[in-house]
Amino acid sequence: MTVNRGNAMNIDSSIYVVGENTLIGVAIHRALERAGYCKTFSEKGEDLKNVSQIDRLFRERKPEFVFLAAGKTGGIAANIKYPADLMLDNLLIACNIIECARRYNVKKLLYLASSCSYPRDCAQPMKEEALLTGLLEPTNVAYAVAKIAGIKLCQAYKSQYGSNFIVGIPANAFGPGDDFSEEDSHVVAALIRKMHEAKVNDRKQVEVWGTGNPQREFIFVDDLADACLFIMDNYDTPEPINLGSGMAFSIRDLAEAIREVVGFNGSIVYDTSKPDGMPIKSLDNSKIRDLGWSPYFSLREGLAITYNWYRKEY
Ligand code: GDP
Repeated sequence: MTVNRGNAMNIDSSIYVVGENTLIGVAIHRALERAGYCKTFSEKGEDLKNVSQIDRLFRERKPEFVFLAAGKTGGIAANIKYPADLMLDNLLIACNIIECARRYNVKKLLYLASSCSYPRDCAQPMKEEALLTGLLEPTNVAYAVAKIAGIKLCQAYKSQYGSNFIVGIPANAFGPGDDFSEEDSHVVAALIRKMHEAKVNDRKQVEVWGTGNPQREFIFVDDLADACLFIMDNYDTPEPINLGSGMAFSIRDLAEAIREVVGFNGSIVYDTSKPDGMPIKSLDNSKIRDLGWSPYFSLREGLAITYNWYRKEY
């Protein structure tokens, strides 16, 4: 029986997860399948930056619900090296998908922004109201501006057309399927790879970038996907909502935790010639917690699952 819960997804709703290969896109698919949603799809080779291809996809597949989890991302090094690529990719995809979602009367769209959209010197933990109250972190300003444009576009469509487009702001996600490349990876994947390689090659030390003092909030990607499904069903307000785990750690503590999970016995050295980026990124998660959602995985569990996946894949 199909149960109708107002704006909530039904088991046979047509659901489009934009971003077939992204860490979070793949995890949202997994979560939807696990929950029994039977009409979910992603693009099949369509170029998300090509508006006519996206228009045709919406016209033919008629999605009722859209999870917008696409757009190039990268760690601190990628943000410094390819700011134009990151910005353009995210801007074009947000414009194309959001406009097509309006044109084809999508019932609800969830846009995933990023915690780097918050000001560099934001009071911690960062509340949703703090967006656009200060200057951005210079190492990721181009990507952050693109993400803020996506947030504002959703709100503008809500205000002008009444579109039910909501915005989630995730903490730093990690998990199976992450980008483990040397240049582009985020810190969790980078340190898993570095420590694993040091272990198997019997190297005595591993280099961690920066001072080790910055703090980040990490969320295991299956928890993030679960939070996305939860707000798709339970949140209808144009103001963004933070999607965090409450697990904020210094890079130093993270490196120690990864060392234990990987079983690397050498030492950790800090390369202070590399940038720290934002000093602290920790989200105020009271909004989603008050709605009744909380994460399932601890940092340690998430790291162990991710490391097992990495060992099998590489
Ligand atoms: P950010 O959250 O946008 O800064 O992205 P990252 O995940 O790339 O980096 C988080 C923090 O981890 C920064 O302070 C980095 O300097 C630090 N870090 C330490 N070692 C590494 C590494 O090997 N790769 C990356 N990407 N970050 C590292």
